[in-house]
Amino acid sequence: MLWRRHNIFEKDKLNKRVMTYQPTGENMKNSNDKFVTEVVENLSKIVGKERVTSNLIDLHSYVRDASPLEAPLPMAVVKPLTTEEVSKILKLANEMKFRVFVRGGGTSAGGGGLAFMENSILIDMTAMNKILEISEANMSVTVQTGVIWSTLNKELAKHGYRVPFWGPESAYGATVGGSLALASMSSQGVTEAGGTYNQVITLEVVLPTGEVIRTGSDSLPNGGRFARVCNGGDYAGIFLGSMGVFGVITEATLKLECLPTAQKCIGVVFKKWKQGIDFVYKILRSKTIPKSLNINPGMRAVKSSYGVEGECAFRIILEEMNEKIADIKEQLIRSYAKELGGFFPDGIDEKVKEWWDGMFFRLVKGEKKYGFAAHACHRIPLQKLPIAVKEAEHYFLEVHRVEERGMHFSVGCYVSEQRPACGFYPFLYYRDEPETRKIALEIWEGWIAHAIKAYGACPYWMGIV
Ligand SMILES: Cc1cc2nc3c(=O)[nH]c(=O)nc-3n(C[C@H](O)[C@H](O)[C@H](O)COP(=O)(O)OP(=O)(O)OC[C@H]3O[C@@H](n4cnc5c(N)ncnc54)[C@H](O)[C@@H]3O)c2cc1C
Repeated sequence: MLWRRHNIFEKDKLNKRVMTYQPTGENMKNSNDKFVTEVVENLSKIVGKERVTSNLIDLHSYVRDASPLEAPLPMAVVKPLTTEEVSKILKLANEMKFRVFVRGGGTSAGGGGLAFMENSILIDMTAMNKILEISEANMSVTVQTGVIWSTLNKELAKHGYRVPFWGPESAYGATVGGSLALASMSSQGVTEAGGTYNQVITLEVVLPTGEVIRTGSDSLPNGGRFARVCNGGDYAGIFLGSMGVFGVITEATLKLECLPTAQKCIGVVFKKWKQGIDFVYKILRSKTIPKSLNINPGMRAVKSSYGVEGECAFRIILEEMNEKIADIKEQLIRSYAKELGGFFPDGIDEKVKEWWDGMFFRLVKGEKKYGFAAHACHRIPLQKLPIAVKEAEHYFLEVHRVEERGMHFSVGCYVSEQRPACGFYPFLYYRDEPETRKIALEIWEGWIAHAIKAYGACPYWMGIV
């Protein structure tokens, strides 16, 4: 009963989907018909009247997320408070045969939290936002997955902790559940700790049948929440990046680390890609892994960030529990950079620090300046980064001439999971007006399909499932 939008390669369906958004007419009729009334009545019996709505004004606020996509109005939106309520909602969906989509903060840049098929309901998870347990013993935190990252971060900081990957750049709107279901993998901490999926110890999930399961050590009667792979395979893994298709993640137990006491911010530019790539290998092989190794990929990105010529530049953030360790790591990393021909333009470290401190406002700042951002993020091996940048610049700037058409294009990249692997982030900024949005949507979807075919891009939260 849990549904997902279709494959982006099916262009005809895409057009049909965009056309199905009708604020009046069909959807208006829908919301009055007998079936919807029955659905709403039954949902109200589960969660109470005040947490179900089929009111058109309410429903309209659920037809968009942060992508250029638009969805039809859902029949109803329901806001459960407990796992038991989610289970009952899914059982009802099976009995009455209506579709269910799940939504967290609705910040997905790929049409994630939208009800793309008619006669669907949306489960809005944001009322399930309790921080259930901070375990000093297991160095873990257990949350209801509707909690927003910024709330969680604030609470954990009071105890001197954070999750080693502490949220996407949309942390002021995104929920933990949405990030797990999308396998969010930029930004903070991804180089050292991996993405959201690497933070998971155990999950509680309501399957499409309404059955509730627990994963890892928590699946055993007295196991508790301390180990991910127990009692069989990595069952949590099935739900990470699944966009809510395989079940509603209701609780998550995540790793914790202590807040750092020493920080270093280093910026370095390389004239040639080869030097920059060798630099990453040097860092990985010598195990001088920083908290964050971010790449300004390509001449254009380097020029706009630092005003100098270079094929790539790096923002390196060290966060340690000890000043001496931070000093030694800094010395080593600077010496590797120098050996390989890297240079340090004036003021670059300050710029890197400013960039890091603004982690949850960067994209929003860009959006304020240039309009909405269509994200086309995906994963690639490090070696493919120069080709990916070239392809992206060719596609957006030369083929589609986006800048001449009033849009803005930029790229970013993180080295991830202590591996020669990257999250690569092309952004297309556009004014959110119907005509421009339509153009941006076509360019954006075309790009994702192109990148997959052209150089083996692996999207992680595009909604291609
Ligand atoms: C300004 C901005 C910055 C961003 N920065 C980043 C970034 O740095 N890194 C990154 O990866 N992404 C980023 N994103 C994209 C998006 O914000 C993240 O992927 C975020 O994790 C989505 O969380 P959400 O709660 O908004 O999910 P939603 O958009 O509500 O939902 C996303 C998907 O998860 C499913 N889902 C939601 N909750 C559950 C649940 N409890 N159980 C099962 N399925 C569920 C939904 O069905 C949907 O498929 C950014 C977006 C914006 C607008």
